[in-house]
Amino acid sequence: MTDRILNVRDLEVRFFTEEGSVAAVNKVDIQLDRGEVLGLIGESGSGKSVTLRALLRLLPAHSSSVSGTIELDGKDVLKLSGAELRKYRGGETSMIFQEPATAFDPVYTVGFQISEAIRNHLSASRSEARAQALKLLKLVGIPSPEARLDNFPHEMSGGMCQRAMIALALASSPKLLLADEPTTALDATVQIQVILLLRQLQRDLRMAVIFVTHDIGVATEISDQVAVMYGGRIVENGKARDVLKSPRHPYTEGLLSSTVHGARKGEKIDAIPGMPPNLADLPHGCAFAPRCRYATDACREGVPPLETGSDGRRVACFHAIEAA
Ligand code: SF4
Repeated sequence: MTDRILNVRDLEVRFFTEEGSVAAVNKVDIQLDRGEVLGLIGESGSGKSVTLRALLRLLPAHSSSVSGTIELDGKDVLKLSGAELRKYRGGETSMIFQEPATAFDPVYTVGFQISEAIRNHLSASRSEARAQALKLLKLVGIPSPEARLDNFPHEMSGGMCQRAMIALALASSPKLLLADEPTTALDATVQIQVILLLRQLQRDLRMAVIFVTHDIGVATEISDQVAVMYGGRIVENGKARDVLKSPRHPYTEGLLSSTVHGARKGEKIDAIPGMPPNLADLPHGCAFAPRCRYATDACREGVPPLETGSDGRRVACFHAIEAA
């Protein structure tokens, strides 16, 4: 029996701009089991954060459209409305943002805000919610948690505020946690602590997590599977250790060769030439072709489909599939 918690099929997000309708996310499929972490990687503008916002139904209805299928634990998320949608958003699914300032209201204490999130999604009295908020602050390793309950967000350091935001995201006992570059604004040592904390909590609570990052080192540390996005599409997806050890898509290969880490000491950094494409004006054929060292005429004629190899690895590249 499968332990599937999230099933996303053919997800497409379009934004309505003055220049016309732009597909920011195109035919994205994601399958995630309970307790599994997906690292969503790629450069800025590849569609990672928009995918997360679409999953949480956070995109503005007047300027965007979302189509395809999003099922959480068998529930059709795109059909939710009213009270059901409120229960889903910040309840069954919650999100950790890059900047804690975007999650906390500066005029209320951290303890009050976590307690309110608990009361909104679980039936609890004020005193029960405060006790649970205290437990969560302890769980995320905040020193002197009793005193911190009555702190305002600006009274906490960046690392502590980030931990408090994780506590806020866990307040509703979500089935799915979405993390949008949650460690980017932190310095390196705090970053490692927060990643290890998230990994531990995710294992203990058996939550499914989608972790957006442009940092390959972070993705390696936290992910069970990775999906690499480029130009709004997933171009490679598979088990993290396989994809990051032996990439099959030239873009994944480029991301890995342009990353600085200890194992590459003495090696030349090989940056990917050029810039990520403008989603409103994607090149014809494979969107990566203008930057790809393996591009052939065939690559400029058609969009390579995301095909699944015999080992389950999915790759969207004419030549990677030929090589496999
Ligand atoms: Fe490069 Fe062609 Fe593969 Fe695109 S399809 S990544 S251009 S080799």
